[in-house]
Amino acid sequence: MSFKNKQELDIALKIACVKKDFRLKKVINLCSVYCVKCEHLECKWWLRAVKVENSDRFYIKKYEKMHTCGSEHLTSHNPHATTKVIGAYFKDRYPEGKGPSTKDLKNSIRIELGCKVSYWKVWMGSEIAKSLVRGTHEHGYGVIDVYSHMLRTSNPGSKTALKIDENGRFKYFFVAYGAWILGFAQMRKVIAVDGTFLRSKYGGVLLSAVAQDAESYFSGGILHSRL
Ligand SMILES: [Zn+2]
Repeated sequence: MSFKNKQELDIALKIACVKKDFRLKKVINLCSVYCVKCEHLECKWWLRAVKVENSDRFYIKKYEKMHTCGSEHLTSHNPHATTKVIGAYFKDRYPEGKGPSTKDLKNSIRIELGCKVSYWKVWMGSEIAKSLVRGTHEHGYGVIDVYSHMLRTSNPGSKTALKIDENGRFKYFFVAYGAWILGFAQMRKVIAVDGTFLRSKYGGVLLSAVAQDAESYFSGGILHSRL
């Protein structure tokens, strides 16, 4: 069995451990070799994975199939059930970045992984799952400039404005598509301004200004600003 990289192997092992409620102990953690054993001293279970030459991939070279540590240590609180492991396991439940609520996810963790975790850990796990699907907020803000460029290239006549403060922090981003600008001349002389508070990690406000033409088609612009 092979894995994209060492991190993917590590997560897969931890998910398996959470499901069966065993604990891992890293024995060797080098660039090209990853060796783990069961944390239980007398247990014979171990696994050795090695890196494929000229690639990031790792494959399991040898492992002892059975745990001999018995089940007396089993609890519903497995230390490997970290936010990262929860995020990786449930990432497919968040297509488009939307998925189960924290309460539902908490239930799924209990049913599918057999462990109890705190509300905060569940919430953080869902945030990680979402960021694995659609990228992190930081990455999103980091590529606004590239997005603006692509937008202006593929929608000629579009206007964008990105403002950052003296510390390089995001201040606001404005966008009006070329088609909106072109159509604006035909709009009725009423502009509706609306806004909403963004409740994601970095907050902010989203403002829109729209107008309607005689046939109720819309035109306008959107501004996202930091609070
Ligand atoms: Zn064991």
